[in-house]
Amino acid sequence: MTAIVDEAHNRGRSVLAHCRCTDAINYALDAGVDAILHCSFYDNDGSYRFDQKTADRLAASEAWLNPTMNMGRANRIRLSKIMEERPLTPFEQDRLERSTVSGENSMDQFSRLVKAGVKLVGGSDCGWSHYPFGDFQGEILALHAAGVSPLEAIYAGTRSPAAALGIKDTIGTLEPGKEADLLVVNGDPSRDLERLRDVAAVFKGGVRVLTAKERLDGGLVPG
Ligand SMILES: [Zn+2]
Repeated sequence: MTAIVDEAHNRGRSVLAHCRCTDAINYALDAGVDAILHCSFYDNDGSYRFDQKTADRLAASEAWLNPTMNMGRANRIRLSKIMEERPLTPFEQDRLERSTVSGENSMDQFSRLVKAGVKLVGGSDCGWSHYPFGDFQGEILALHAAGVSPLEAIYAGTRSPAAALGIKDTIGTLEPGKEADLLVVNGDPSRDLERLRDVAAVFKGGVRVLTAKERLDGGLVPG
């Protein structure tokens, strides 16, 4: 792992480690990774046991935490909706039960990690299961539901990932000289994060592009 991190850093790349147990978090920190995904506190026998020493170590390090709070949550919401229309299949029922337990564990570890003072960054873990593409807002909302303030949750989706990717000089905040990638919404998301889903306009590098809704309507970019 040290060789992986050294070689990546030699090439100006950052390394994210996928950690589903406490040993993995410590090995990743030993190797000097730049970010940790999930950061689950399972022991080698599969039981959940939060480890404060590891949490403090992560908080004291330069590594970012990407807790992926929406993946399980979105899936549980999806299964609950199905349940309103028909009984779940045994497979779905099993998924829901396992996801409910792991969701409780991840809420517990998330609140303790935030309390320990980790550097938080939002991320989807998408590409498998039933992750709703095009709704990164769901991750921001999930971070808030898990205990951080609306503004902290917004930072985890904007300036923090820009910093984690080493590109904060060009994107991540609204400042003169930056690229002006903007999501313009109706209302004040710092008071109500759900406003992030009420998109008024999207700018990429200062140029207005179609919103998802405008694309569906087959529209042209409004002047
Ligand atoms: Zn994963």
